[in-house]
Amino acid sequence: MGIEQVNSRIADIQSRIIALQTQAAGQTTRTTAATSASGTAFATQLSNAVAAQSTPAAGAADKVYKLNSKGVPVDLAAYGNGKIPANALQQVGDTRHKLWAPAAEKLNTMIADAKRDGVKIGITDSYRSYEEQVDLARRKGLYSQGGLAAKPGTSEHGWGMAADLDLNAKAQAWMRENGARYGFVENVPREPWHWAFEPKT
Ligand SMILES: [Zn+2]
Repeated sequence: MGIEQVNSRIADIQSRIIALQTQAAGQTTRTTAATSASGTAFATQLSNAVAAQSTPAAGAADKVYKLNSKGVPVDLAAYGNGKIPANALQQVGDTRHKLWAPAAEKLNTMIADAKRDGVKIGITDSYRSYEEQVDLARRKGLYSQGGLAAKPGTSEHGWGMAADLDLNAKAQAWMRENGARYGFVENVPREPWHWAFEPKT
């Protein structure tokens, strides 16, 4: 129940108490007192419920999305790179992809805006678990050794802070022109598909 609903419920109940008291005025004093007492108790319970509602509970709606000094999302840092539970990440639109919530929202907006410009942006990869990064490094080799995979535990994908995009030439040009407006930067040479989320602070 929201605060507005609780408040309107209280107003409703108070008006009923007044109606009952008025009605009871013609009856015995004893009945009036009993009705009023139980009505007051109920109103007190509801007031307490309102007070409880006013205190913000720890939940998604109250999350503060910030990066720490290492550029890692504060709300995800404790989980560790590639160890983030699915429910701590946010889905990108209606895709199967997940990212840090602000990155997911910006990416979704960016894809929609590109579409309006007649540009199709697909997603091939997003958040990646530590195990998936180990597998990728085995298949594609470590970037430091000429391959295409970051060392497991260090990938931006492991923080939900990068997306690999499916871009044709037109979309690649669009991204280079517009990506930064949404916080997405092409930051890995040899990987024009890799776009890291680096929001301006
Ligand atoms: Zn990538």
